[in-house]
Amino acid sequence: MRFTWGSATDVGRVRTNNQDSFLTEPAVWAVADGMGGHRGGEVASRTAIEAVRAAVASGLAVNEAITRANAAVRERASGDTELTGMATTMTAVVVGGGQELLIGHFGDSRAYMLHNGVLRRITDDHSLVEELVREGRLTAEQAESHPQRHVVTRGLGVDNDVEVDLYTIEVIPGDRVVICSDGLTTMVRERDIERIVRSEPDPQRAAEALVDAANRAGGEDNTSIVVVDVVEVDPIEVVVPETPAPTEAIVAETAAAPAAATAVPGHRPAMRPAPEPPAPPPPRTTASWGSRIRGTLLLFVPLILVLAIAVGGIGFYARRSYYVGFSGNRVVIYKGVPGGVLGWDPTLEQRTALTAGQLTQIDRQRVAAGSGRGSLSNAHDFVSNLQAHVNATSTTTTTTTKPRPTTTRPRTAPVTTP
Ligand code: MG
Repeated sequence: MRFTWGSATDVGRVRTNNQDSFLTEPAVWAVADGMGGHRGGEVASRTAIEAVRAAVASGLAVNEAITRANAAVRERASGDTELTGMATTMTAVVVGGGQELLIGHFGDSRAYMLHNGVLRRITDDHSLVEELVREGRLTAEQAESHPQRHVVTRGLGVDNDVEVDLYTIEVIPGDRVVICSDGLTTMVRERDIERIVRSEPDPQRAAEALVDAANRAGGEDNTSIVVVDVVEVDPIEVVVPETPAPTEAIVAETAAAPAAATAVPGHRPAMRPAPEPPAPPPPRTTASWGSRIRGTLLLFVPLILVLAIAVGGIGFYARRSYYVGFSGNRVVIYKGVPGGVLGWDPTLEQRTALTAGQLTQIDRQRVAAGSGRGSLSNAHDFVSNLQAHVNATSTTTTTTTKPRPTTTRPRTAPVTTP
């Protein structure tokens, strides 16, 4: 998928400091609106944004990344009385697969999507007035000007456990996603937001125009905007990569150069021949055949010992490592290193319940490349992440109707022995 994006933030016309933070990276965009104390809100939103960035980069699903951000905010606040009680909202968008974006949401910052010229709100606010609207005690119009419209009912950093709303949206080129703090939505009506988002083709200028609109309307709060335009989506395809044939046989081949250790998975590297042994010294005419053979053996013993130690060491490394790969279209854990090394081919250690067809395109590529390398528990953790992504995408709806949030908790993928 390919995107362009723009962003803008402003302190507004009333507040003295900007407690919003935002994130724009090639595959993750987010807005966080901090609350609490003189500097607490600012620290909370910045801490949460950094935690989400790091967690997504390490392969976690967006809802898990937001759960990590909650822990990070709580940890940052502990032991610092000036930061006690700080909290932040978080609305984060990540690339899910060929045509999908995943949105994790907590608090009252919002995500909208412009599709065919129509702006729709994706997220439900965790706010007092929104709950009153859902209960039928306020109309949407009353909510727009309600004096308590800033009151948030969920904030990262407040509780140990968080229930993150997760939405999946399908997008096509030309779609636009807008993430914003409530500094925009408490000041500017949705129809005016739609008009600006629809009329300004450049995402950077659209973000700036939205901030300007909030400030013209009074700018009572900090306003932060991230606008993401979908330029290109990937075609749907299930890639079942070539995988090394699992085998239990351990065959010591030849003392090849260690180039095999960096082999591409699925492609056995060509083994280089063992170095030619040095030519024996010319026989002395006085020496018998027996002493000549003894001399040659003595010359080779140190060389053979060095080779044996090297081969044994590499074999030990090859047989102590694990990674996650495909066997056919099944996700499995292999023992060994991708592509094998010095004749130690990877062997199938455990099968999982996951198949290539269930995975997002990014996860398929990761598995095809032999990810989750290291110890067996590394490989299990990686499989758990894959399962969490599958759970996240399979329990949400798409944009044909307004998606309903699902609160997901990662489940460990069941593993069985082959
Ligand atoms: Mg705000």
